[in-house]
Amino acid sequence: MKRKLIIRAHHLMCIQRFEGYGYTEEFVENMQYIVDMINKNPDIQITIVTECDDICTFCPSNINGKCRGDLLDNHITYMDQQVLDKLKIPENTTLNANEIFQITGKYLPDSVAFEICDECIWKHICFKNISTHMQYK
Ligand code: SF4
Ligand code: SF4
Repeated sequence: MKRKLIIRAHHLMCIQRFEGYGYTEEFVENMQYIVDMINKNPDIQITIVTECDDICTFCPSNINGKCRGDLLDNHITYMDQQVLDKLKIPENTTLNANEIFQITGKYLPDSVAFEICDECIWKHICFKNISTHMQYK
């Protein structure tokens, strides 16, 4: 079993909201593996990055370590940076899973995450329970 995870910042939001959907079977299996690992091992160390991570490794959109070309990669990195700003931690911070998801819960409630997630195609699943005054873009 892995002793440490590399996770890009915006994926902290995705991990919290994962419901078994994803781009491919392989992607979903890996995502489930990571979610289960975190749930079973709250002490596992997680390093927060703004580049392709242990989730991107099994994603078909990961082209040579970039998310679908420079334009989208820049956009995704911007999402990561927004998450880091909200969490008040610098890139490459390492914390255990329990600590990181405590501050994620505190500083990234649905209302904040909803804005950062912008036009993600999974938004209708991740935020299906969000209050009706928030409008999808
Ligand atoms: S909407 Fe997209 S970016 Fe946001 S938590 Fe869900 S999968 Fe992640
Ligand atoms: S490569 Fe892009 S779409 Fe795929 S998991 Fe990583 S950030 Fe998400």
